Amino acid sequence: MENQEIPLIPVRMLNEYVYCPRLAYLEWVQGEFLPNADTVEGKIRHKRVDVGNHRLPEPDAVSADRIHARSVRLGSSQLGITAVIDIVEGEGNVVTPVDYKRGKRPHIAGGAYAPERVQLCAQALLLREHGFECQRGFIYFSGSKERIPVEMTEELIAETTHAIEGLRCLVKETAALPQPLEDSPKCPRCSLGPICLPDEIKFLKTHQGEIRPIFAMKETAYPFYVQKAGAFVKKEGEQFIVEYEKEKVATARIVEVSQVVLFGHAMMSTPAMHECFRREIPITFCSYGGWFLGHTVGVGHRNAEIREFQYRTSFDAAKCLQIACGIVAAKILNCRTLLRRNWKVRNDEDINIPQELLRLMKADAESAKSAGSIESLLGIEGAAANRYFQNFNRMIAEKGGGVCAFDFSGRNRRPPKDPVNAMLSLSYAMLGREWTIALSAVGLDPYRGFYHRPRFGRPALALDMMEAFRPLVADSTVVTAVNTGVVRENDFIAAAGSCNLTDEGRKRFIGVFENRMAQEITHPRFGYQISYRQLLEVQSRLLIRYLAGEIPDYPHFLTR
Ligand code: SF4
Repeated sequence: MENQEIPLIPVRMLNEYVYCPRLAYLEWVQGEFLPNADTVEGKIRHKRVDVGNHRLPEPDAVSADRIHARSVRLGSSQLGITAVIDIVEGEGNVVTPVDYKRGKRPHIAGGAYAPERVQLCAQALLLREHGFECQRGFIYFSGSKERIPVEMTEELIAETTHAIEGLRCLVKETAALPQPLEDSPKCPRCSLGPICLPDEIKFLKTHQGEIRPIFAMKETAYPFYVQKAGAFVKKEGEQFIVEYEKEKVATARIVEVSQVVLFGHAMMSTPAMHECFRREIPITFCSYGGWFLGHTVGVGHRNAEIREFQYRTSFDAAKCLQIACGIVAAKILNCRTLLRRNWKVRNDEDINIPQELLRLMKADAESAKSAGSIESLLGIEGAAANRYFQNFNRMIAEKGGGVCAFDFSGRNRRPPKDPVNAMLSLSYAMLGREWTIALSAVGLDPYRGFYHRPRFGRPALALDMMEAFRPLVADSTVVTAVNTGVVRENDFIAAAGSCNLTDEGRKRFIGVFENRMAQEITHPRFGYQISYRQLLEVQSRLLIRYLAGEIPDYPHFLTR
């Protein structure tokens, strides 16, 4: 960023910078934001403060009147900072800023931690710059209802000006994301921990260190599917209401919705869409049969730097090949694991999965890792896929008398001709949709990939990223749906050479897919519990860290 392009620094960012320079860079330069309990409570608290008089009198209009102004907005190009001060109180031209904080006061020297003290001091400097006298301020801790005085000492002023200069230099001169803190107690409380991934980065760089489950938080929101043709989604207060022929048929609390999925002719009102945009809830549109047609989001992700890294790598043929080799090898190894775990013994001689098949698939993965060109990689991938799908039937249980619940003799599509292929196609479409949304949500462009070539409307990066997850999520969903009897033969309609699930069958199949996405597994590298849906986000963020050069390789996901 050129000098003159640096906008005024919000004093809130000085707080972040003193807490951790990487946090300030992620938030201010890259526009990253994740709400957590602190930020949500902070917003509510500021809403309460943000009422009443927002203006300060002129400092030279000498008066004995008491000053009490809320949410006072000040800026100074001389200082290079701007602030919205919660409360300014005083008399005449002697004023005191009051900054509201959540939680209880810490019992430490100075009454508050350095980030809060620096933020308050910056507010005091702004008030001085605007002609007021300001020797002290207060931090009000709402948790313990205490006002802590902070004196504007020479030392604190020097610390504050040093922070302003430090943040300006970080943006202006280095223009690079600072390294994460190491084993810092600040990270578990940091709102951007799940974006920063400090422990995961350290582990992937050094293969050492304990990984605290900063990311692995519980999921609180889920996709909201609306399948019925003619169903209409509208917003009422804090709920989405689904109506069909003017009758209310379903409701969902908006805070519990992670995405809205509209099938076929299901519709949504403009106010409901606006609410989704405001809350960054993606709306995805699928055909009647469940094909992903597109999705719409609010203003989209603001971090252009991420896409810059992605595009730069996508034009580097050697790096693309390296990533593609890893993608294909991971997919083959995960297919092998799925076969190994789900192999069904058919008769007495047939005790377990043939070792030769396992050996061949391992050899396929090894060949993929060292393929010399995309063309030869495609050949290896094709051969491994044939081997896998020739044996796919062995994961499907018999329905009795040695007869398999569903016949499957190989992969076919466009259109799928039998029930298993119909389920595989739908499952891949849903997984592709999940990846497209996950990649867009973290700021990547799902349409520019490294292995799959860009073609009109093809989410190439989503297709790249889903390869390793096809067996683990999509194929596994099909195997579970069949073997548990959730989907049966009479859940399909065959017409004009194509086979499709009925409405009822599709509904149950989507249920199995969603259960799989919500299923928690132990991360094989990081050791914490995480659902597949969260895993998609972690992998997307790790891809960013790789593209930005923070970790030497992209860690493809391999299950044991
Ligand atoms: S998680 Fe830790 S290293 Fe990362 S931004 Fe937050 S405080 Fe800094």
